[in-house]
Amino acid sequence: MQKNIYKFDTLQVHAGSRPDPSTGARQVPIYQNTAYVFKSILHAEALFDLKELGHIYSRLSNPTVSVLQERIATLEGGIGAICSSSGHAAQILALFPLMQPGDNLIASTRLYGGTVQQFTNTIKKFGWEVKFVDVDDATQIAKLANKKTKAIFCESISNPGGHVTNLPEIAEYAKRLSIPLIVDNTAATPYLCNPFKYGADLIVHSTTKYISGNGTSLGGAVIDSGNFDWSQNDLFPSLSGPEPGYHGLKFHDTFGPYAFVIYSIAVSLRDLGMTMAPQNAFHTLLGLETLSLRMRKHVTNAKRIAEWLNNHPEVGEVTYAGLKSSKYANIVRKIYPKGAGALFTISLKGGYDACLKLVNKVNLFSHVSNLGDTRSLIIHPASTVHRQLTKEQQISAGLAPNVVRLSIGIEDPIDLIKDLKQALE
Ligand SMILES: *Cc1c(COP(=O)(O)O)cnc(C)c1O
Repeated sequence: MQKNIYKFDTLQVHAGSRPDPSTGARQVPIYQNTAYVFKSILHAEALFDLKELGHIYSRLSNPTVSVLQERIATLEGGIGAICSSSGHAAQILALFPLMQPGDNLIASTRLYGGTVQQFTNTIKKFGWEVKFVDVDDATQIAKLANKKTKAIFCESISNPGGHVTNLPEIAEYAKRLSIPLIVDNTAATPYLCNPFKYGADLIVHSTTKYISGNGTSLGGAVIDSGNFDWSQNDLFPSLSGPEPGYHGLKFHDTFGPYAFVIYSIAVSLRDLGMTMAPQNAFHTLLGLETLSLRMRKHVTNAKRIAEWLNNHPEVGEVTYAGLKSSKYANIVRKIYPKGAGALFTISLKGGYDACLKLVNKVNLFSHVSNLGDTRSLIIHPASTVHRQLTKEQQISAGLAPNVVRLSIGIEDPIDLIKDLKQALE
């Protein structure tokens, strides 16, 4: 399908899929299948040597998952994507081709709590290290970077506060250091923000959230812009140097801009196995068909509810960047013109206890550790998802004990306001 002639609403329905050639089935079939028959010995050899690309075994690739990969890549304006079993898996897939033991990355302090945990403790076991910076003060990046720094990682619209990141500014620092900028675009989605337009090199998603929207399937994706030159320096030997697992094949020499995507399938997925299941790809595709319709409603609901909360006597700060009074209003106008998402936090003047009461008393809002569902969701991070973080980490992530996170769904906003109103009383 010719990508450039269609608009977003069309691409979210059609990109990557065509009627099934053998049956004419219009919806994408679920290829619930492990292995693919080789046409001949020569065909098998060519596939294993990466001289020809095709399906071998579903740990590496699967036709249903491939449709989702092509659709997400198209919506983000990338040259290719790899799907994974979860958003967390996507983060490891994004870093794996870039990092060696002893390397580090610079990451925003305002990240999903699970990501802070993964970066602070778990990736140490790979010999990788993270240095956190407040991305509102990007000059810190230059101060922290060294010869072992291999990437900068931030969220476009950040979980949990819905703060927006000034992507072109961060991208400028990545360019100066000749390292890629990786943007987690989960809370914005490609409908609200196109990080590649603002200098990102790789995008990661938890497709579990808005992309699927229906709360049925875990999943993740890494999308490559194809713009980063992996051979411009000697920082990325996995992509620019010889790969021992393929008789010394050099991915960047051989595949040019597709080096990252092909390495991710041929090495990362082959050896780490964090593959998306075809059923999950199917459910995610169903959700993705309506992404823009949902996001438009998420955004108008969130705006209205954030404004209402901002005027409520029991409520302190409302972090929604879509408020006219937000310090991020300029960045929203420039980089997130269709809206600042539907995720934000509020602080309650009644403190920790008032937060627990609010969570207990809402009826329509579900108390879950998830976001981006069609349903409205609420959580008190300090007692749940950010429980494992230190007090300092909680506060720098914007999650003091008197803070509640809301993910506004697509219900009628009058019903949502009614529910919050009775719970706050
Ligand atoms: C949920 C989330 C993740 C992790 O994704 P999973 O699919 O739960 O593994 C990563 N980043 C952000 C911004 C998220 O909201």
